[in-house]
Amino acid sequence: MACNKNHDNTDNIVRDLPIGQEGVGRHKCASCAYEIGYQHGLQKAENINLANVLDGLEESQKGDRRHRSPHAAYSLGYYNGVVDSY
Ligand SMILES: [Zn+2]
Repeated sequence: MACNKNHDNTDNIVRDLPIGQEGVGRHKCASCAYEIGYQHGLQKAENINLANVLDGLEESQKGDRRHRSPHAAYSLGYYNGVVDSY
């Protein structure tokens, strides 16, 4: 399944992330990864199975988020979520 969500705001963030397509994150939507990470960060989620998170993402080859590392996207989202929770 290809991601059809509107990621206009998130795409501006993830386009500066490194290129990376390792493991289960290959071809996954980096903007979705960022947004899930952000929600987890807001909640300060502690029991995270990143393989499951990444495996559950939809795929994307689109625009600025193409080939961006979902690992980097998730962790940056998590960080920003924690910062914004204070
Ligand atoms: Zn997406």
